[in-house]
Amino acid sequence: MAAPDARSAVAEAGEVIARLVRDVPDFPEPGVVFKDITPLLADADGFRAVVAALAEPGRGHDGRPVVDKVAAIEARGFILGAPVALDLDVGFVPVRKQGKLPGETHAASYALEYGEATIEVHQDGILPGDRVLLVDDVLATGGTARAARELVERSGGEVVALAVLLELSFLSGRAVIEDLRLTSLATV
Ligand code: AMP
Repeated sequence: MAAPDARSAVAEAGEVIARLVRDVPDFPEPGVVFKDITPLLADADGFRAVVAALAEPGRGHDGRPVVDKVAAIEARGFILGAPVALDLDVGFVPVRKQGKLPGETHAASYALEYGEATIEVHQDGILPGDRVLLVDDVLATGGTARAARELVERSGGEVVALAVLLELSFLSGRAVIEDLRLTSLATV
């Protein structure tokens, strides 16, 4: 997609998210307000606008891609990250939960509120020197994004930016991802 279209999509994206991302209180557990993106996915114009906006940090000033890969985090990250990769005309690399990828993997673990999670990437998914745009739906505590960055770097790649639909600023994920450039299309 041409850069001017993408830029207008960035301007649109905040309104689209406010209108089409639904708050679901007490899901999956009491006290959590779940950000449900399914109404957004069901709206072709809204979906197209956020995909274009999420791709923007993967473009230079001239609108051309400055990344070699898009990597996204299971599962909602895949729904957003795959069309972002095609928008940028670059490859897509899935970051999956432990035990799902059939080949040799790098793995990274991170703390959850209760317990621990592990994510993996194929060792040959990201090549040394690859510049990578990371995509997910929500930045919450930042643990997932930090672990995904670690996987890219262990593969010899570099994360150029993290692009998310929504940043939950009260959970301070921005501090956890440290110097990683963040593009969030909306902040609550
Ligand atoms: P975190 O590691 O805490 O930043 O959590 C990020 C991951 O958890 C993302 O992959 C999100 O899909 C998911 N997530 C966390 N909090 C929410 C929420 N309130 N609504 C929807 N997804 C969430």
